[in-house]
Amino acid sequence: MTTTEKQKIADFLDLTGDFLGCGYRSEKKEYSFSEGKTVQPQSASNGNTLEQIAAEIKACKNCQLSEKRTNTAPGEGVNRPLVMVIGEGPGQEEDAQGRPFVGKAGQLLDKMLASINLSRNTNCFIANVVKCRPPNNRDPYPEETAACSNFLERQIALLNPKFILAVGRISAQTLLKTAESAGKLRRKFFELTVADASYPLIVTYHPAALLRNEELKRPAWEDLKLLRSKLDEINEGN
Ligand code: URA
Repeated sequence: MTTTEKQKIADFLDLTGDFLGCGYRSEKKEYSFSEGKTVQPQSASNGNTLEQIAAEIKACKNCQLSEKRTNTAPGEGVNRPLVMVIGEGPGQEEDAQGRPFVGKAGQLLDKMLASINLSRNTNCFIANVVKCRPPNNRDPYPEETAACSNFLERQIALLNPKFILAVGRISAQTLLKTAESAGKLRRKFFELTVADASYPLIVTYHPAALLRNEELKRPAWEDLKLLRSKLDEINEGN
């Protein structure tokens, strides 16, 4: 068997393992093949992988949110995504399943993303500013978002998304370090700097806000169209 054929089989097995195991694409592993020897995966980032971050999150006791959680929800989606979607924090369903945006708001988020050809299965990664559920879905406290910021920043740096979509006030305020409302922050382009790299970012309303207030649906659709036009520009440049 040629080295290329061996690499293809290894890639396929990695892909299958990712979907059956952690639910998101892990970092691409480089294997070295030589006749009759076992293959050794080598991480491209000195062991700082999405799986390791998820394991650290699972063990984390850095703030009081760890005391009441059922599961952590580190995030899920593809590696090297076109768009990284960042929400606020897990709700009841997310806490039960250990996955982000899987309740009613999550189902709406998936539909919103699908309307502009985005999906956590093909070209997005979905995460939150806090990885444990705030009790009764209250806003996370600043010390809780601060305690979780290292995980989010490491995820952003590893994923290296082409664009970040901040959904909702808490996400936007935390990422942009501002007290402005989501309504004031939308329709503007920001640059988020993480570990010396810069990521374009836009803000839209949280899907839970759209479920409470139908009137926000049209402006949210305008935001999505704006994002799509920016993504198309990026694609044309490649
Ligand atoms: N709301 C969020 O902000 N994130 C989730 O994962 C679920 C609901």
